[in-house]
Amino acid sequence: MPERELRIAIVGAGPSGIYSAEALVKAAEEREQPMAIDLIDAVPSPFGLVRYGVAPDHYSIRSVRDALDRILHDHRIRFFGNVEVGEDTKAIAAADSVAPQQISLATLRSMYDAVILSYGAATDRNLGISGEDSQGSISATQFVAWYTGHPDTPADAWVDLLAHCASVAVVGVGNVAVDVARILGKSAEELQQTDMPEHVLTALSNSAIRDIYIIGRRGPAEATWTTKELRELGELAEADISVRGVDTELGPTSQLVVDTSKVAARNVGVVKEWVTRPAGKKSKCIHLRFFARPVAIEVANGHATALIIESTQLTPKGGVVGTGEIERIAVDAVIRSVGYRGTALSDVPFDHDRGVVPHDEGRVLHGTGPVRGLYVAGWIKRGPTGIIGTNKKDAVNTVSSLLYDLDQGVLSNTEPSRDDLADVLEDGFVDHAGWRRINDAEIALGSSRGRDRTTIHDRGESLAASHVAEGTGRTSPASQ
Ligand SMILES: Cc1cc2nc3c(=O)[nH]c(=O)nc-3n(C[C@H](O)[C@H](O)[C@H](O)COP(=O)(O)OP(=O)(O)OC[C@H]3O[C@@H](n4cnc5c(N)ncnc54)[C@H](O)[C@@H]3O)c2cc1C
Repeated sequence: MPERELRIAIVGAGPSGIYSAEALVKAAEEREQPMAIDLIDAVPSPFGLVRYGVAPDHYSIRSVRDALDRILHDHRIRFFGNVEVGEDTKAIAAADSVAPQQISLATLRSMYDAVILSYGAATDRNLGISGEDSQGSISATQFVAWYTGHPDTPADAWVDLLAHCASVAVVGVGNVAVDVARILGKSAEELQQTDMPEHVLTALSNSAIRDIYIIGRRGPAEATWTTKELRELGELAEADISVRGVDTELGPTSQLVVDTSKVAARNVGVVKEWVTRPAGKKSKCIHLRFFARPVAIEVANGHATALIIESTQLTPKGGVVGTGEIERIAVDAVIRSVGYRGTALSDVPFDHDRGVVPHDEGRVLHGTGPVRGLYVAGWIKRGPTGIIGTNKKDAVNTVSSLLYDLDQGVLSNTEPSRDDLADVLEDGFVDHAGWRRINDAEIALGSSRGRDRTTIHDRGESLAASHVAEGTGRTSPASQ
């Protein structure tokens, strides 16, 4: 164990990055090991998908932010927001530029004893059907980023589309698909209570949407959504729910799933109850369509006009085969919600098939051997699965490997340069005090409109809110 301070950089300040920092702080206390932990994120605010993924109307889950924020208060942890790990670029070229400053992994590794990669999985999977690139064909990743106010999503992304979109298909039967359908089905009043940016609230409140189709290749027993989230679809103020009785008739494959899974049994129970509901008269309707796989998006003048689906059957092993029966659902937009996917970072080994960084108990692997001092945690380690809390256990696993390597003397092979990241970046980042000022500005903005909080979407506005240093709109620890 080195007597000198152990220096760790963490790339990505989502749950897995913050839980990794928490596990390191705990170890520093227990071992009386001096430690400095720098958490780096490409956006000005911490919390990753808890801010830019978790549905804005799921208040208790979003409040996990408060618990994560408490961890950041530890004196050993510094936050560096608006700093992207990619290529080395010297400080921001133009004083008014708001782009994140970049730093390469090689530079980071030369400055720290160890680097933990926890940069998440921010792209989407494709359906692999024709018409997928047309206007009106949207990935759930992009749509969720827009309604939560991610700074990289244009404010006007789907404003025109929503204003003219009467019918939309959401492809996928997981919790993200449910989130998207529910947000589209909610009334202006229901959305007003959320922290969505103002332009999102206006666009959704003025949307022309009447019909929302949720499309699943398998049946209600095989859907991966959770029962609580599913039930919410049937409780919306302005949207009815519609299910075809035939979709709830279980074949032997589905019956086996229901017999062995309580969640599946509950989900099927909820859906069956909806079949018996009398037809409603609300202004919108959510249609659940099971045993249907998308085979094409019909396009006219570059714009999606219909989703073509084929009926399916399950094989005894749970596979899906098409029956050849084709149906056309007229839609103005298709939202593809078939999974998030990680992307490669320069100079980091990557498993392109699985969209994850290969590892052994959190140690990044190059071939079969570990890369000294490089670790991975969270979605980019294990793929986009589990709940927020899963990342805590996962981060503890990675940090345990790091500490084991420390004890074995593996990390002390090379002395890091000990350059301070704050000096290397000059003034091009948002620190924890700067993030607290963004937080205060969002609460003040919300309260000026009768809301608890309004997310600031624009990167420049966030930087201005974090502002301390004159003229730069950025903050640094020295300016606290
Ligand atoms: C739409 C949606 C809804 C969800 N809802 C729920 C829910 O209701 N309940 C629940 O328990 N879980 C939910 N989850 C899952 C939960 O959000 C994830 O388990 C968790 O956020 C994964 O944590 P992570 O830290 O691995 O990744 P992320 O949260 O994605 O954090 C990664 C961070 O890395 C940063 N980053 C990326 N690239 C770079 C780079 N090159 N340089 C610097 N920083 C970088 C990103 O800006 C981001 O802040 C939801 C997920 C999604 C997508």
